[in-house]
Amino acid sequence: MDHFAYRDGVLFAEDVPLPLIAEEVGTPVYVYSRATLERHARVFTEGLADVPKKLIAFAVKSNPNLAVLNVLQRAGFGADVVSGGELRRALAAGMAPEMIVFSGVGKTRAELQLGLDERIGQFNIESREEGRELAELAAERGERAPACLRINPDVDAKTHAKISTGKAENKFGIPLVHAREAYAELAALEGLDLRGVAVHIGSQLSDLEPLETAFGKIGELVEDLRAAGHTVTHVDLGGGLGVPYKAGETMPSPAEYGEMVARVTRDWGVHLTFEPGRVIAGNAGVLLTRVVRVKRGGNGPPFVIVDAAMNDLARPALYGAWHDFDAVEPTGERMTANIVGPICETGDTFARDRECDALQSGDLAVFRTAGAYGATMASSYNSRGFVAEVLVDGDRYAVVADRIDAGAIMDAERVPDWL
Ligand SMILES: *Cc1c(COP(=O)(O)O)cnc(C)c1O
Repeated sequence: MDHFAYRDGVLFAEDVPLPLIAEEVGTPVYVYSRATLERHARVFTEGLADVPKKLIAFAVKSNPNLAVLNVLQRAGFGADVVSGGELRRALAAGMAPEMIVFSGVGKTRAELQLGLDERIGQFNIESREEGRELAELAAERGERAPACLRINPDVDAKTHAKISTGKAENKFGIPLVHAREAYAELAALEGLDLRGVAVHIGSQLSDLEPLETAFGKIGELVEDLRAAGHTVTHVDLGGGLGVPYKAGETMPSPAEYGEMVARVTRDWGVHLTFEPGRVIAGNAGVLLTRVVRVKRGGNGPPFVIVDAAMNDLARPALYGAWHDFDAVEPTGERMTANIVGPICETGDTFARDRECDALQSGDLAVFRTAGAYGATMASSYNSRGFVAEVLVDGDRYAVVADRIDAGAIMDAERVPDWL
């Protein structure tokens, strides 16, 4: 459920009419709803009511905007970060260092140092090599870095190949078959406080079954590790819960997910960490855009050319992803169209042969479910600048990320004097 709804034929974000934001901030612009973020945080937390000891660490990569992070920090969330930049954002947004988990296969030495400097709560180590390096850095300071070992359970998450992370051929984690040996080696290092394991098998999961399979394997591993004399106090179950991108589509609810987790982990006796991203932020944002013009098609439907493009919202070009597309002030008439951006490549197509509200030049429309993996993936391709972001709260709103125009980006470039 979200707070983007029509009132008297006009689409609102909470109590703010979207045409007002388009008028005052310009388009394209991402619009987030604070009430929706808070609702999703609450529903996710309530779904896990039967899990006694837990940390919910928002996956910052899904929406790293400082205001969004601040809303979630107030809702009791920590952060899952995958770079030094995200770590700095989480801290800047007010997240407590001990509620920050650092994931990722390629943490550099400098990033590991930063995590130690900031005394973050947990490093999720993705290889023996990384574990040794972190142990060495921590030992040099006379410290022990709190860590979990990320396991690759070789489970097919049944999602898009580019966002599947738990198959043996994916780069993430330590293969389950090597996990016991790796755990034993790393647990013995002076600089590591190896306290458990982590798993994250992919994103936009529409079925709980692969998650349950993966968690089952993790449960067996925890038993084995304990039998081998290791202490296991923490397990990180990652994120991955899918969201409906199409009206009417259903996904496992946080309550169903929570029930499964509570059932599978009942006897583990560990502190659990969760890393939801998309399920919190996805439906809390729309990309508001204006139709530049409608162009007659060659032998197909007309092209509705909008002022947003693949550089602002990459998911359709990158994953062939679907976003519902609705007029802000629908007339009731419908059309079938190809919805495209202005960028000079055919990949800049949001939807093909889409039945949608009839639109004309100058009309406003939204791509829905754009709050996760939207603005965060933006680029300045075609020298279009970076899209602005707005947060709505009841009847007020604020620009929470300025539009960075092509001129500002150009200012960071120079022609060397030897040219
Ligand atoms: C991307 C990512 C997440 C978040 O995934 P969602 O599908 O957005 O919930 C969580 N953990 C890790 C390690 C990730 O890389």
